[in-house]
Amino acid sequence: MNIFVLNAGSSSLKYRLYRMEDHMVLAEGGCERIGIDGRIKYKNHAGFSVREDVSFPDHETAFRKVLAYLTEGDGAVISDLSEINAIGHRVVHGGVRLVHPTRITPDIIREVEDNRDFAPLHSMAQAGVMRLCLKLFPASTFEVVVFDTGFHQTMPPEAYMFGLPYHYYKDYGIRRYGFHGISHSYVSERAAKLLDRDINGIKMVSCHLGNGSSICAIDGGKSVDCSMGFGPVDGIIMGTRSGQVDPTALFYIAKKENLTVDQLSDMISKHSGVLGLSGISSDDRDIEDAMLHGNKQAALTRRIQCYQIRKYIGSYAFIMGRLDVILFTAGLGENSASLREAALQGMENYGVQLDTEKNKATIRGKEGDISKDGSPVRILVIPTNEELKIALDTVKLVENR
Ligand code: AMP
Repeated sequence: MNIFVLNAGSSSLKYRLYRMEDHMVLAEGGCERIGIDGRIKYKNHAGFSVREDVSFPDHETAFRKVLAYLTEGDGAVISDLSEINAIGHRVVHGGVRLVHPTRITPDIIREVEDNRDFAPLHSMAQAGVMRLCLKLFPASTFEVVVFDTGFHQTMPPEAYMFGLPYHYYKDYGIRRYGFHGISHSYVSERAAKLLDRDINGIKMVSCHLGNGSSICAIDGGKSVDCSMGFGPVDGIIMGTRSGQVDPTALFYIAKKENLTVDQLSDMISKHSGVLGLSGISSDDRDIEDAMLHGNKQAALTRRIQCYQIRKYIGSYAFIMGRLDVILFTAGLGENSASLREAALQGMENYGVQLDTEKNKATIRGKEGDISKDGSPVRILVIPTNEELKIALDTVKLVENR
């Protein structure tokens, strides 16, 4: 069975075509700068690889180009679109009602559009690509949508409610939604497999540390809290996002500098976090490099990062009443052994015992247990694979139709 996974952003479209019998990636790539100028990357399993500048006025032009690469020319991997059995779409925000992976119908697409205020940059592009697929693919192609917020819908109200007047929740759906759900659910399932344990009996804290970062408490395979909130800025500091900030500080800044809501939003989303604190870069590799050269601002940024990760792990262990596993994933979580070591320092008495040699050796896409033999809390690094998770969820729906 061939499954096509699509992940549309406001000006981008990532894609991956899987042969599910052996999880082989037949082709993958992405279109960027849609609506600006346009670039496409395409590569297939046989080593064909191309990067081309093209004019992409909209997602439809970009998508048609992807389909052309898949079916025509030297890099083609299928001869006809009917060889794609099903399509799995990633949608960032499902709101309150859209939770589980769902077969796409015009009503579902409308609901994604109705949720657009929750994720203005993504929702309309994602709904547009879903409509496009209904138009371009044969009616027999099964289409599924998987929601990044869906995994967190198991959070109890005490975790997702804010201390605001209740009617904002009732009227506008103001609450914690949590993000990176596809990633957290993938790595937690993978962890249970690696440990050869039933996921229902495991209490985990999953740290998805990338350009965007979130930490999630997972009890028995279900999300019970997440550091990201109503939007993807809450929680710990990220590449350019501030993480949690006392809102009164923002009101103060807005008044002092006469900022509009949009300018304030821009400041906490694009100019804060690792970039804003260090004044160097949003990329952790640059921070590590600067630290090695004695840059104090970089060292402070790293200390804040580690402190916040530790604080979330500790508080989530307490709310779950026990901690069995800590997971690290995403760009930083998978690659930065020094961050993992620094973040877990001082937690030995709570049973978090890192094997520093195993830790150093577990980078660049390697999966592994980096805890000491006998450590009461297992510490795992698991490369995330959101596309594969979407493909697997899609297969489940195809098989149960
Ligand atoms: P992601 O959003 O998951 O793609 O993660 C991207 C981020 O991961 C980058 O901005 C870097 O901060 C970080 N990252 C990627 N590779 C490395 C590496 N080898 N060492 C340290 N950090 C890395």
